[in-house]
Amino acid sequence: MRVLLIAPPGAGKGTQGTLIASHFDSLHIATGDLLREHVAHQTPLGLQVSEKLNRGELVPDEIVLEMVREAMAQAKQADRGYVLDGMPRTIGQARALYAIAAELDMLADVSLFLQVSDDEVVRRLLARALIEHRTDDTEEVIRRRLALYHDVTHPIVDWYRERGILVSVNAMRPAEDVGREILSVLEVMRAMVEHVPSDARRAIDLTGLGSAFGV
Ligand code: AMP
Repeated sequence: MRVLLIAPPGAGKGTQGTLIASHFDSLHIATGDLLREHVAHQTPLGLQVSEKLNRGELVPDEIVLEMVREAMAQAKQADRGYVLDGMPRTIGQARALYAIAAELDMLADVSLFLQVSDDEVVRRLLARALIEHRTDDTEEVIRRRLALYHDVTHPIVDWYRERGILVSVNAMRPAEDVGREILSVLEVMRAMVEHVPSDARRAIDLTGLGSAFGV
């Protein structure tokens, strides 16, 4: 299964990405984690990007695109799928990623959108700050990351909706419930992606399911 995760910071990309990757034995490619590892090991790349991470700004496209190209090529070589978490974050990255994936014959099957309100994002990230001590989980930087998400990342959701590979999930619930719903829908899609050509697919919106069942 080849999955892209699109979500505001704090929506649960890391948690759900790990779950999906282990369920489908896909490679979990988390650009934020890869970058933080470089910073922790003080590699030349880490030194180059650490300020950007601290300020909650995006690092240059060529850095993340190269990381993802390498990881995707590894997944292909191992005959595995991938769960890409933290990328694409701009329309430009989405287009560049499409070109890389097409070249490797590894186009995404599903773009999974985790929907969470801004207030919930801030609440979750401030709670995470007490546990993980990430340098970008201060209230000021959280607000900046959220604004950046609305400005440049969220518009990508429409791009995937038009391509018919978008699955939207309400992530304002306990992680186990969200995870269960994601795995159920991806299991159904796994059977479908092998038989339905991508230009005949339609976006799937599960965000209203809860209210439809009176939750
Ligand atoms: P995350 O762990 O996904 O919240 O990412 C943490 C930080 O890593 C972001 O605030 C950016 O500074 C950087 N980053 C991660 N992914 C990307 C990306 N695709 N493009 C640019 N910067 C990124």
